[in-house]
Amino acid sequence: MGVKHLAVTSDEEYFDHPKYLRKSERKLKWLQRMVSRRKMGSNRWRKAALMLAKCHEYIANQRKDAAHKISRYLVDNYDWIVFEDLNIRGMVKNHQLAKSIADAGWRMLVQFTAYKAEWAGKQVIAVDPRNTSQVCSECGRIVKKTLKERTHRCSCGYVADRDVNAARNILHKAIGYVPELRYGQLELNLF
Ligand SMILES: [Zn+2]
Repeated sequence: MGVKHLAVTSDEEYFDHPKYLRKSERKLKWLQRMVSRRKMGSNRWRKAALMLAKCHEYIANQRKDAAHKISRYLVDNYDWIVFEDLNIRGMVKNHQLAKSIADAGWRMLVQFTAYKAEWAGKQVIAVDPRNTSQVCSECGRIVKKTLKERTHRCSCGYVADRDVNAARNILHKAIGYVPELRYGQLELNLF
């Protein structure tokens, strides 16, 4: 799960955050400022507070709609669904608005997928996401990259979108698979 895409699978499927999100974020910030500037309890304050509440509701509905569609797709197409455990993930502590909005979307997606999977008799698992973006899912090498680097490029020849590589590592953790170097000596393996 990420801020650029809502979710990316190990099968290279990309699910985006609903398109309205960025626009609504700006509007939300603007409304929050307006509410805080106006005198609490005044008519003008009430009007702004109502608009803010409506904006929140709109975002929540769009997010819910996206989470329902994606979770339905995942449960219909997969018997085993592995997520990164969001409670372990450091990003959640970030107070930036964009990330907190994304975080709410991820949690909803996990929740909806979990209950739909239960009805369908399918498995949903959460794993510790630590190192999943840095480890090469093909050979196990550590390939350091900053958050801005969107592509995983390993000296073993494996090139993939950073989120696809991470998704493969998340799946590997759940099934206990450890990728190995095919040539050369064994390097640090954090699994
Ligand atoms: Zn590699």
